[in-house]
Amino acid sequence: MKWEAVIGLEIHAQLLTESKLFCNCSTKFGSQPNSQVCPVCTGMPGVLPVLNKKVVEFAIKLGLATNCQITPVNEFARKNYFYPDLPKGYQISQFDKPICIQGHIDVEVDNKKTRIGITRIHMEEDAGKLVHQGSDNIKGATHSLVDLNRSSVPLLEIVSEPDIRSAVEARLYAEKVKQILQYLEICDGNMEEGSLRCDANISIRPVGQTILGTKTEVKNLNSFKSIEKAINLEIERQIEVLEDGGKIIQETRHYNEATNSTKSLRSKEEAHDYRYFPDPDLVPVAIDDKWIESIKKELPELPEQRKLKFINNYQINDYDASIMTVEKYTADFFEAVIKLLNKPKDIANWIMGDITAYLNNKQLLLKQTQLKPQALARIIELINNNTISGKIAKEILPAIMETGKDPEIIIKEKGLVQLSDETELKKIINSVINENAAAVADIKAGKMQTFGFLVGQTMKKTSGKANPQLVNKILNDILGIS
Ligand SMILES: [Zn+2]
Repeated sequence: MKWEAVIGLEIHAQLLTESKLFCNCSTKFGSQPNSQVCPVCTGMPGVLPVLNKKVVEFAIKLGLATNCQITPVNEFARKNYFYPDLPKGYQISQFDKPICIQGHIDVEVDNKKTRIGITRIHMEEDAGKLVHQGSDNIKGATHSLVDLNRSSVPLLEIVSEPDIRSAVEARLYAEKVKQILQYLEICDGNMEEGSLRCDANISIRPVGQTILGTKTEVKNLNSFKSIEKAINLEIERQIEVLEDGGKIIQETRHYNEATNSTKSLRSKEEAHDYRYFPDPDLVPVAIDDKWIESIKKELPELPEQRKLKFINNYQINDYDASIMTVEKYTADFFEAVIKLLNKPKDIANWIMGDITAYLNNKQLLLKQTQLKPQALARIIELINNNTISGKIAKEILPAIMETGKDPEIIIKEKGLVQLSDETELKKIINSVINENAAAVADIKAGKMQTFGFLVGQTMKKTSGKANPQLVNKILNDILGIS
């Protein structure tokens, strides 16, 4: 039988606000445990939460950027459950009246555009964190500690429609969500630090069938690679169960990245298990058109717009434009260099070539290096006016990316200025000719492939500093080749 997968993603994005959702505590990552807590975010009795306006603004931004409708009056609800890292006994979230509904994002798979619906985006608070001692999880730990720094940090949950049909599509969709969040500068998208977390709802059905199969939810997907791997794994598992005559049970499964396997965590709760009810301490959030309009005006150029602009204004191809716009920082950088030097294709080639190779090798992002737009523009200029060869440019790039120093300073420090003095080059070439009489005879006899050998010998003698065009010209002159 041929099976089809039906996948929906829930993505939790931690917002880049300085303070928490309902109090003034800091949201800074990596601080001392329990150093960023107060009676409100630890849920002490008698306290009152005060909504952080920035969070509402960020939610509207994301809603507009993902083609959602903004709900004029939305509401916070209490989601009741007991867990040690949730001292209140409930999480403040949104239930039947979320802030954004009915949006969509387009992704491209094998040059085909697919539209993935967004059911809703809602605001909610994060829970705290349990730190198990002596083991990675509860099993085997001697004891567990509670860190509430993360408790009540603002999140947006982005829930997709079950429109996704493959693991690759799911990964591309998640990457697009991250890209949009980063362009809006409302979430850093750092999956390792947990600022972007993803759960996948997966079911399968025979191709052609319209009703949905029973779904399972796979949690703990904290890299794009694991989103793809875990979904493929779960699809395979479900096919095997059904083809063996078994039944899929609705449950939550945990994905283990290290072993690339999933295991059952618990049978899935239904919404009524949480006894949701409107939070009596928080008034409904009213959003008027004026507010929405003012946020719309502030929206930055989004990835797709920017890509089109790059293709049209800078005459680079579709592929180059997608690479230049993957990250907002790279897109800004690319445009900043163009402003200094109108050579878009050269600039894109440097970014995609040697710069990316360096970044991959060092496991860094462009923004984590010292490379400034001025420096890249200068490198390209120095090649174009024959001050340095392309080879020397490649050689000095790592030092520039590490130190942020001016290319010319590095060139001087390393003694790498290109040799373009004709008189001096002639002397060196003459000595090369004298030392290689046999090669010269070959060339005179018409074996032109030997010409490159003499160029190579000259480059060797000058430690690669000779200007190649000039070497070619002088050799031609001396050997009398036209
Ligand atoms: Zn607090």
